[in-house]
Amino acid sequence: MSAPVNEAPSSLRSARRAGLIDQVIEQLRVQITSGAWAVGERIPTETELSQLTATSRNTVREAVQSLVHAGLLERRQGSGTYVLAASELAGAVSRRVANARRRDVLEVRRTLEVGAARLAACRRTPADIVLLRELHSDRLAARGDLDELVAQDVRLHRAIVQASHNPVLIELYENLVEALQENVRVNVTVIAPEDDDHATLVEAVIAGDAEAAAAEAAGFLDALIAGSDKEDLVVDLTADGAPPQRIGG
Ligand SMILES: [Zn+2]
Repeated sequence: MSAPVNEAPSSLRSARRAGLIDQVIEQLRVQITSGAWAVGERIPTETELSQLTATSRNTVREAVQSLVHAGLLERRQGSGTYVLAASELAGAVSRRVANARRRDVLEVRRTLEVGAARLAACRRTPADIVLLRELHSDRLAARGDLDELVAQDVRLHRAIVQASHNPVLIELYENLVEALQENVRVNVTVIAPEDDDHATLVEAVIAGDAEAAAAEAAGFLDALIAGSDKEDLVVDLTADGAPPQRIGG
């Protein structure tokens, strides 16, 4: 037997409502994890979401709030709600990395990227080679624009990892990558060892020279790790100020 909605006990009504919120959470989550809403992008307004999901604004608000708690979305005062991470794992890793010592992050990067460079040199496809050349020249063109340089540098490192064609390694790195932007930003602004534009790294991968690729990936990260001991003094420079422009990282 079922009572009409408006006569159901309040516990049942709230259960139904919770079920509805869960459904909306799931719908929004799919938009995020599928990349339909990319990291950094603003999502539709509550009113628009309410129309899209055919639910009330209250339901939408609670669903969004839940994803804010999960670390996937971020509300920005007076601006809207933005995608912060593509998965719970990425969100958790981001928060973890944001609070980690930079040296520890660099050591993890070294662990993943040296292995990735070695595999990429063995497995890169003709399409990977085309992409790596393109991204490397984009990175060179981005010199002088810090935001663009950081974005292009991360894109290049992701492409090298993707050329490893190891899906587990790729997933691990992808979950780390948003958090790495900040790491790269400090590397390129403050503690870049020298003007390493990764040309030798990219060429070694393209040439299929696994040992050289691993050595190049290790080389620039070792230099950053060696410089990281003094970095605690300088990390704050990235907040504002005018740090020296370098192109490593
Ligand atoms: Zn780099």
